[in-house]
Amino acid sequence: MTQATLNEPDVLVVRYGEIALKGGNRKKYENALARMIRRALKPIGMAKVSVVHGRIYVYPEERAMRMAKRTAEVFGVKTVSPAWAVEASLDSIVAGAKPLVDDLVARMTHASPITFRVRAKRADKRFPITSIELERAVADAVLPGPELVKVDLKDAEFELGIEVRGKENYVFLERLRGPGGLPVGTSGRGLCLLSGGIDSPVAAWLGMRRGLFMGFVSFHSFPYLGEGSKRKVADLARAVAHYQGKAQLYVVPFAEVQEAIRDNAPERYRTVLYRRMMGRIASALCRKYDYGVLLTGENLGQVASQTMQNMGLIANAADHLILRPLITFDKEEVIDIARRIGTFDLSIRPEPDCCTVFQPASPVIHGNPSDCADAESNLDLRGLVDRAVSNTEVHLVDPEE
Ligand code: ATP
Ligand code: MG
Repeated sequence: MTQATLNEPDVLVVRYGEIALKGGNRKKYENALARMIRRALKPIGMAKVSVVHGRIYVYPEERAMRMAKRTAEVFGVKTVSPAWAVEASLDSIVAGAKPLVDDLVARMTHASPITFRVRAKRADKRFPITSIELERAVADAVLPGPELVKVDLKDAEFELGIEVRGKENYVFLERLRGPGGLPVGTSGRGLCLLSGGIDSPVAAWLGMRRGLFMGFVSFHSFPYLGEGSKRKVADLARAVAHYQGKAQLYVVPFAEVQEAIRDNAPERYRTVLYRRMMGRIASALCRKYDYGVLLTGENLGQVASQTMQNMGLIANAADHLILRPLITFDKEEVIDIARRIGTFDLSIRPEPDCCTVFQPASPVIHGNPSDCADAESNLDLRGLVDRAVSNTEVHLVDPEE
């Protein structure tokens, strides 16, 4: 079989799930989604993006396949189909569909036939034959013999889509899966505690997927730790910001807090107290920079500070709701996502985390509120928080850089 290379698609059909259900807010969500798609495509090239009857159509002027893949990363998107424009006639539909099927068959690698169906939708009921007749006619015209392709109406591996809408009609074969969720910003603003580990970038991505516009806060122990840890966190923040656009990164100097805890609190409570201070400082940053919720990469039972007792003590110190998207995940599940979103390789770059500074030999595992309050009683909490906040560096992270 000779293989002609496919032309670039004419239009990208973008389907969204959940946001279509949002009743009165639907317009707002659709517009937010269209805006996020425009933002994502801008660095790639020119494209017109329009919302029509519960779908978004993207008309790329260039690099359409590249744009299809990028669109499939945008939160709120369920699927994306690169589609080819045809006329509302059987001949034109067949002419448009044939190269798609030929290309698919040419790429077939396994010996057994693939299963296939044709599915037609007619929004324009003036079309002279029914959808089922159209499906049969197109299948007859475009499919090679049953040794290569078997029709299976129930459970086909591949589906050729035909949409006859009147003015615009098209055919498509692929449905690229999007991440689902809600468009970034529609749930408000979140501040994610970002360490250099594997978990917190994934937590940030999951929070964005639920519609949060994310900022990042990272605690650093200079001079005990060098610029390397800081660069690592900036790289991670940039990698996650790919999914939303520019973001703020707040780098908090944490050494003074850690020294105060080392000098004035029992050793075994150090880690819990570090975390409580992180919560207080993060809450203060929320107030100063207008974030409504905190996020962490905490995960039940993973390390000593993540027992239910210690997490409870940590949560009590912050004034804001703390979301923990990974709380019940297994590590492998987190790693899978980290690989998919492109943060894993950055996260495994070896750099020390601030919590390793003055790390206790045997940290408390099941802390309790009264011991914790005693442990903290000699600290100038207010002064430490105020100084940390006023010495915080604010960086703008630009994913396009
Ligand atoms: P991660 O892989 O995200 O580092 P972890 O499993 O190593 O998480 P911990 O180190 O106990 O767990 O941290 C739990 C959470 O606390 C992190 O996911 C992050 O949200 C927050 N955190 C820890 N250290 C820092 C830090 N230096 N700066 C900002 N946030 C931090
Ligand atoms: Mg960590």
